[in-house]
Amino acid sequence: MRLSVIGCGHLGIPHAAAMAEIGHEVVGVDLDRAKTDRLNSGQCPIHEDGLARLLATHTATGRLRFTTGITEAAAFADVHFLAVGTPIDADGRSYDTGQVFAAARALAPHLTRPCVVIGKSTVTVGTTGRLAALLARLAPAGDGVDVAWNPEFLREGHAIEDTLRPDRIVAGVSSQHAEDVIRAVYAPLLANNVPLYVTDPATAELIKGAANAYLGMKISFINGVADMCAAAGADVQQLAEALGTDPRIGRGSLGAGPGYGGGCLPKDLRAFTASAEALGAHDAAALLRAAGQLNDSRPAAALRLVEETLGHGVGGVKVTVWGASFKAGTEDVRESPALAVAALLHRRGAAVTVHDPLAGPTALAGHPGLDYEEDLEASVKGAELVVLATEWPQFREADHERLAGLVARPVLVDLRNLVDAGTWRAAGWTVRQLGRPAHRSARRSPPAPG
Ligand code: NAD
Repeated sequence: MRLSVIGCGHLGIPHAAAMAEIGHEVVGVDLDRAKTDRLNSGQCPIHEDGLARLLATHTATGRLRFTTGITEAAAFADVHFLAVGTPIDADGRSYDTGQVFAAARALAPHLTRPCVVIGKSTVTVGTTGRLAALLARLAPAGDGVDVAWNPEFLREGHAIEDTLRPDRIVAGVSSQHAEDVIRAVYAPLLANNVPLYVTDPATAELIKGAANAYLGMKISFINGVADMCAAAGADVQQLAEALGTDPRIGRGSLGAGPGYGGGCLPKDLRAFTASAEALGAHDAAALLRAAGQLNDSRPAAALRLVEETLGHGVGGVKVTVWGASFKAGTEDVRESPALAVAALLHRRGAAVTVHDPLAGPTALAGHPGLDYEEDLEASVKGAELVVLATEWPQFREADHERLAGLVARPVLVDLRNLVDAGTWRAAGWTVRQLGRPAHRSARRSPPAPG
């Protein structure tokens, strides 16, 4: 099939590449010419496992290409995916769907044949209906333009894997034709028994919001329990392992840490809260709001653990923060909790050096006031404290014996409960971990039942 993917960011590029991989001819459209030029030469502006190979393969054969020309996309394809950004509105609560409607307005005059526009961006419930009305009014094809919503659940860092082997596909449709087209697009995945949930558009829009709101609540839940563990002298890591064995709960998203971040969860939870309020579900809104507030308090909780470890404030202390990306495996620093912690330490007077295996350059653009060091060992030279804020495996595997000789004081605050504290302590480090007692070595496996 011939597809267009409008909006080539963290969602659109992997989606376009994956659609080419399953056999479609794909044109990706973006406003940013520098980006489309790079993509056409097979270069990848974002980090995703397996993406560079797919781009190189499919741009070389011509099955995948990128353009800034929406006219070209409309002429080429009869299925148009919308993957533009939906940042949080100026009010800080609901989605700004300006990019979605701007892309639709740009596309509409060129839709002269019946086609299907399939939204993938995360939007407020009701957006599909408004978009369908707009396109019916502006497109020469009129009612021949079908609009469906097919929300995306990919995890950054695993975008290709998650697009080629998703847990489920959700299709919010208003017509049999749109359902048939979505089934045809994803036929190779459906043939591998990926479940397809066909719903009305409003349900599809809410499924996506509910999924991310739930993940955010789960992370806030375990972080709240981490506070309880800290106060009780208990161990949140052991607690989470035992809790997660219950299949009704599950182990995913139960890692205590500096809070959720990224381009999706924080804004999705805020927007879902606003939707709950707007729809009159005030108790649901209160539940969701509490999860957001708990997340907002995480940098301060991290600072408390740091000060408790040092026995004093951070003013004048030379601190190295390991991690800038919002999670491991990506260069994305949008709403990164690691950078929020680094910025808070800096505001409290610490001299902060940030090291990240990948995200230094993107972090520098948003936080030019912090110092950055590309090399892991160089980053800790002379440090009086190392704060581990992103769960990169490089930090777990770091040569702690060698590093102990480079720092001014071997003190580690591990906000991700990532390292084996026992071995670090044996090498002379003072180690504090979030929601865990001060002097218990890390246990890797849960204790035997009973
Ligand atoms: P992004 O900001 O990385 O990318 C958006 C892209 O759209 C940019 O390259 C921008 O230049 C382009 N764009 C904006 N207006 C355009 C227009 N009129 N025509 C063509 N291109 C245009 O955003 P993202 O992270 O890829 O997120 C996109 C959407 O997908 C959001 O709604 C997000 O919530 C959702 N989503 C993202 C992820 C993720 O992992 N990032 C996962 C699931 C869903």
